[in-house]
Amino acid sequence: MVDFQQIAQSFEEAIENREFSVYLQPQYNHSSGALIGAEALVRWISPKHGFISPADFIPALEEMGVIPTLDLYVFEQVCQFLRSCIDSNKALARISVNMSRNDIICEDYIERLDALRKKYDVPTKLIHVELTETAAVAGAQVVIDSIKKLHQLGYTVEMDDFGSGYSSLNVLKDIEFDVLKLDLKFIAGTIGNDRGGTILSSVVRMAKWLKLPVIAEGVETVEQADFLKSVGCDYIQGYLYSKPLPVVEYEKLLAGSSVGVMVPQMNLDHYVDAGKFWNPQSMETLIFSNFVGAAAILEVRNGDDTMEILRVNQKYVREMGMNLSEAEIIGLGLADTLDPESKKLYLETLEKAAATREEQECETWRSICSKTCGNEKMCVRSSIQLIGESKVSRLFYVMVRNVTAEKQAYLGLARQEKNFKAAIEQANMFLWEYTIATKEMRPCFRCQGVLGLPPLIRNYPEPLIENGLFPAEYADMYRDIMHQIDGGAERIEAIIPLTADRIPFHVRYTTEFDENGRPVKAYGSATLVVDK
Ligand code: C2E
Ligand code: CA
Ligand code: CA
Repeated sequence: MVDFQQIAQSFEEAIENREFSVYLQPQYNHSSGALIGAEALVRWISPKHGFISPADFIPALEEMGVIPTLDLYVFEQVCQFLRSCIDSNKALARISVNMSRNDIICEDYIERLDALRKKYDVPTKLIHVELTETAAVAGAQVVIDSIKKLHQLGYTVEMDDFGSGYSSLNVLKDIEFDVLKLDLKFIAGTIGNDRGGTILSSVVRMAKWLKLPVIAEGVETVEQADFLKSVGCDYIQGYLYSKPLPVVEYEKLLAGSSVGVMVPQMNLDHYVDAGKFWNPQSMETLIFSNFVGAAAILEVRNGDDTMEILRVNQKYVREMGMNLSEAEIIGLGLADTLDPESKKLYLETLEKAAATREEQECETWRSICSKTCGNEKMCVRSSIQLIGESKVSRLFYVMVRNVTAEKQAYLGLARQEKNFKAAIEQANMFLWEYTIATKEMRPCFRCQGVLGLPPLIRNYPEPLIENGLFPAEYADMYRDIMHQIDGGAERIEAIIPLTADRIPFHVRYTTEFDENGRPVKAYGSATLVVDK
């Protein structure tokens, strides 16, 4: 292992003596077997120190501020190689070069880079530039400007080391990359692990909706490659196919390979441009993040019940509560949280939203398990709208409201109502409930059906006196009964004429008190006197 000092002292001499060489690591389309290109990776074989790993000397050179010199050196070798391929009419595949943070802030770096390319007369379409996510976040404006310059010149820009989780998605919406490179080492242990696998697949599928091709790197096993393929990522770089190769060996490999190109993997028939949801300038994004309530973007694959959340906004995270993070919500898997009946309803609502192209609503129960709150049942009202369609899946915009509290209160009422109903049927009675604090009266089904009462009567008994159900000459009597109840009478029984025909009813009230002895509610019943 060489230290910083040794690297610093040897660098200039090493450049002069051409101790650096370029290795090329092939990239493949796992589905077709075609070679789609290579990444240029620098190697330093020093007569003094032997082989030095880029992981050791790159950070040191970055710190010294000399990386642009090395990267332009690498770039020139790449251009030379591409020129020789063109001249000898050999198979041609594009090459990606690395651009570090220092290169971005180096003022004339891109001009110098492009001057080299012109010197060798290599078309820009044969060159991709890789920029790491971390480089991209630092000093966003200078990054945005650099990428714009590269785009204007015709280069393709790849986001390197994408997949260090969620920050990546936020970078994505700010910076216009053309290709994503997903490094499996940043999603370590994820394949075969449900949550990681879901996040990985949601990232891949989101990239597809953005029409961005994804290359997975650091792929070492067939299992990894097959998993990636299953979630829709075909482009692969890693030891599974090949280590980085010296140029001559790569040349041989290239000669014997079928060469393919990268294409965005999804052909979209856009209804609404889904990409707008990640573009910071778009009205849609502004709305998604600021103005709407809790919202999510959901992808549903055709032909099966697979539905996955690709993105949620901060308000969604808050609405769900339970200390869940954005990544956890995505990892939970929507389908798994829905009970079978809710799932059926949810899928039907999606179907309807797709068919009508209009917003559709449903209420579903979900079992959510969070680290801090354990298991909880939650009722969610969702308004669903179709925003994109492809041959294999559909994209929906979903606004949600957690209505658990309202729903539970309502269910409590419905239960009471059910009890009322049973009692009425048995006893041939009219029943109602009177809330003392609010003077609200809730009649039973029979009252509603036979007497035509609404489910809720405010300022009881006045409206019934007004409409004549309680005959006017007895109005004060009704008022007096209610007055006694408001004042805390425990029980009241009376024979009272009701309806316009003044039919006598046997009316009973039983009052319920709270723990402090204050009257809360009174339960009323009425039976026909003639019946008895
Ligand atoms: P990187 O750009 O993320 O490059 C990928 C690294 O993963 C390479 O390491 C490559 O050899 C390694 N790799 C490829 N396939 C596999 C695999 O299946 N499993 C594992 N475990 N590793 C795999 P390398 O060549 O040591 O380069 C390390 C880093 O140094 C690069 O990471 C890049 O950030 C930097 N680098 C390399 N060449 C250059 C260059 O010319 N310029 C600049 N600025 N940075 C460079
Ligand atoms: Ca790279
Ligand atoms: Ca990488």
